[in-house]
Amino acid sequence: MITLKGVTKIYEAKSGTVTAVNNIDLTINQGEIFGIIGYSGAGKSSLIRLLNGLETPTKGTVEVAGNDIGNIRGEKLRKARQEISMIFQHFNLLWSRTVRENIAFPLEITGMSKAERAKRVDELIKLVGLEGRENAYPSQLSGGQKQRVGIARALANNPKVLLCDEATSALDPQTTDSILELLVDINEKLGLTIVLITHEMHVIRKICHRVAVMENGLVVEQGNVLDVFRKP
Ligand code: ADP
Ligand code: ADP
Repeated sequence: MITLKGVTKIYEAKSGTVTAVNNIDLTINQGEIFGIIGYSGAGKSSLIRLLNGLETPTKGTVEVAGNDIGNIRGEKLRKARQEISMIFQHFNLLWSRTVRENIAFPLEITGMSKAERAKRVDELIKLVGLEGRENAYPSQLSGGQKQRVGIARALANNPKVLLCDEATSALDPQTTDSILELLVDINEKLGLTIVLITHEMHVIRKICHRVAVMENGLVVEQGNVLDVFRKP
């Protein structure tokens, strides 16, 4: 589903060049929950921006859902990005819109009719367990509920890949677990490929099938979670 070959990302900063991602090879299979863990500055955000086509690699190829996402432009890139969705640490909801309107937003953009939209939003609300909160505003929701809205919105257009950028880092441990359980449920029900970046070992241990450990732009270890984190 996702293949990175020799991917390097170098930023030109005023203070000099920064190699944020250094010659990474990575394969993520369809239907997998894949974790990328590392300390701050390891290159995780750069990697996730490469995966959704927000950055182009300085070297190497990034293939996602059959598209060479790092080398296409314009309409082709726009189409390819429809297969990829993302959720965020701070949810990125529209604060003046209700739960229902937030979830409907990506459907409006793709031009779905009002009736179809209403039906799809109902399905999504059920999927993420937000029944009864349809007309609430984000400010009236708990952190966990806000992330459920983020997940429903991300799934609205049936993406093939869900990228999670520190998606539970703003939540307390109990809420984190309930969101991780929802991600497992969605992975199993929809067969969606999930890539999550985190600095929390607990998140990886709880739901990931495989993991890559990043340090200074390098993948220093990758494999099954149990093998990588086996106690010595
Ligand atoms: P992480 O998400 O693991 O914290 P990042 O990908 O954000 O890592 O950062 C990796 C390195 O690249 C850091 O040294 C960071 O300062 C640098 N970096 C990230 N984005 C930019 C940018 N747009 N311009 C210059 N340097 C950047
Ligand atoms: P619109 O009116 O287009 O529905 P808003 O004006 O409510 O959207 O919000 C625009 C953007 O600003 C949102 O995407 C949101 O991320 C950000 N934003 C608005 N209000 C807040 C807030 N109180 N806290 C954090 N971010 C906010």
